[in-house]
Amino acid sequence: MRTLRAVRYSSCISAIALALLAFPAAAAAEPFFPRAGNKGYEVRRYEVQLAYRPQQEGRIDANTMVAATATAPLERLSLDFFGPRVLEVRVGGERASFRRRPGKLLVRPRREIEEGSSFAVVVRYSGVPPKIVDPDGTPEGWLRTDDGVIAVGEPQGTAAWIPCNNVPADKAPFHFEITVPRGLKAVANGRRRFVQGNARTETFTWVERAPMSTYLAVLNIGRGRLVKERIGRLPSWTLVDPRMERASRKPLALLPEIVRFQSRLFGGYPFESAGSIVDYAPDVGYALETQSRPIYTFVPERTLLVHETAHQWFGDSVGLERWPNIWLNEGLATWTEWYYAERHGGRSAQQIFEALYRVPASKESFWNPPSGHPGGPEHLFATSVYVRGAMAVQALRQKIGTKPLLRVLRRWATEHRHGSANVKQFIALAEQVSDRNLERLFDRWLYQRGKPR
Ligand SMILES: [Zn+2]
Repeated sequence: MRTLRAVRYSSCISAIALALLAFPAAAAAEPFFPRAGNKGYEVRRYEVQLAYRPQQEGRIDANTMVAATATAPLERLSLDFFGPRVLEVRVGGERASFRRRPGKLLVRPRREIEEGSSFAVVVRYSGVPPKIVDPDGTPEGWLRTDDGVIAVGEPQGTAAWIPCNNVPADKAPFHFEITVPRGLKAVANGRRRFVQGNARTETFTWVERAPMSTYLAVLNIGRGRLVKERIGRLPSWTLVDPRMERASRKPLALLPEIVRFQSRLFGGYPFESAGSIVDYAPDVGYALETQSRPIYTFVPERTLLVHETAHQWFGDSVGLERWPNIWLNEGLATWTEWYYAERHGGRSAQQIFEALYRVPASKESFWNPPSGHPGGPEHLFATSVYVRGAMAVQALRQKIGTKPLLRVLRRWATEHRHGSANVKQFIALAEQVSDRNLERLFDRWLYQRGKPR
């Protein structure tokens, strides 16, 4: 994620105990969101067709196709969906019966789907998708702005407007066809394919061919100039709210250098397109590393661009197996900010580490929860996940050296490119590259409560 404009120092009262109380089913596939995710299939592709009608109270009329492969015989199946009224569901072209449950769309196809077979579910729905409030109180899902919409989904909000298998590890390519009234623009992930229009509307088609976790889907509808540029051979699309255009020009012009710097560091940029979305949404207040095209709800500074760009490798390309592994996203992206500063005439990562290490152990909320163990969904984006998380990377650098650390990061990005991974695998790779036992270091920095000694 999600990087707030101002760093929050959230209080943490026994996060683990709270999480256990809230989620007794800790053995569920997704420990932080046990209701998310669906059994019996893997998604191969999403196609989202959506018309936005601001004159009709911001209603959408949408059709989403979820193509999947059955991993078990399926008499029934479910999708995660918080969205508006479902009008029709078809499976394999035939009308299927369906029911709604909180956060779920339950579907019973006409005939059983055989294990191993491919099938497509088409859901037609209409209405205003909801805003979702996260366990930590921040808004996501379908967020209305004064000139359109921001749809963002970390960790759960994509199911507000797309019926999906809403767990990070079930990645799939996405195809978006978004129709808006003339004068508005619609931007999503990936490459722009076509713009078609008539006197009243325009349809923007965007295609993200690389596998994408559902929470990284983005849709921005609003006024502004949609600009296509190139970073070397990489096409880059940027939409900026006219009110923020002047102030955004300078920081956004740094993106090509940031992408090149990180591509040299971590290995080739993982996607077919890049870009930025800057939209005016003061009540959202955070930035998000939406795949190939991060979104900012305020004018971004250079450090934030560095952070969200680093996520293209760490979080987007190398995805999370499960949410409690969030350190792999935020620890690595925050450390990249520090290293970028070090290599661009700023303070060194070690100096930043030392300044932060002076924070006394008595400042509990700075050191807890430990970044490898956020404890519950309300702490997914706690300050310690970011700051202590980046300190853990710097502590690893102190132990094994700069070159071996960079080798670890590069191999991590390469070996799990477009996949999903967990913290245990990261530790194993660091041990392999450095040829050292790092169990105590990671235990102290990632898992023990309080200030690591
Ligand atoms: Zn982040």
